[in-house]
Amino acid sequence: MPVVFVAASKLPTPFATFTINGFLEDATGREHVVLSLGDIADGAPVLGRVHSECLTGDALFSQRCDCGSQLEAAMRAIAREGRGVLLYLRQEGRGIGLMNKIRAYELQDGGADTVEANERLGFAADQRDYAICLPMLEHLGVKSLRLMTNNPRKVKALTEMGITVAERVPLHTGHNPHNKLYLATKASKLDHMMGNEHQGEVDRA
Ligand SMILES: [Zn+2]
Repeated sequence: MPVVFVAASKLPTPFATFTINGFLEDATGREHVVLSLGDIADGAPVLGRVHSECLTGDALFSQRCDCGSQLEAAMRAIAREGRGVLLYLRQEGRGIGLMNKIRAYELQDGGADTVEANERLGFAADQRDYAICLPMLEHLGVKSLRLMTNNPRKVKALTEMGITVAERVPLHTGHNPHNKLYLATKASKLDHMMGNEHQGEVDRA
């Protein structure tokens, strides 16, 4: 098994009392969690977010990126619906790790954009791996996702892993003056769909 289920408990938050499910990834020793809410094993598509760890954005309120506000918006949306899953994957900095992310930020302070900085450090622009998602979703009985993301590459990657994405639900939040360039780079170089013209759109995948 690529991931092993360890334990689950209640996790009260300001938005809802989720269940936190802990999984251990065999190959790397990484500890991943899935927050779940409501009956997600009934076969109907489940509102979901696959969120990669961003210590600076998720926990330290960084405005260099939009991760923290996307995480909060996803948790709020799941709470509003009373049903959903949030996969929190421990792959910091698009997979390059926290120290390398800080190195990349240093290069960006000197004028590089987010993609150029990663490449100058010898990394692909996006090193994230979604292979562990399927066994975690299978463990929880989730058959199909209504995926909250602006990233068509994520939809494609998950679909290639065998996960059914019934619908893409756009997340538009967290824009501020400090991450304007970062978000523009994600849109132009990483195909993220950021513009208001996509508000409310639903892509059938
Ligand atoms: Zn971030």
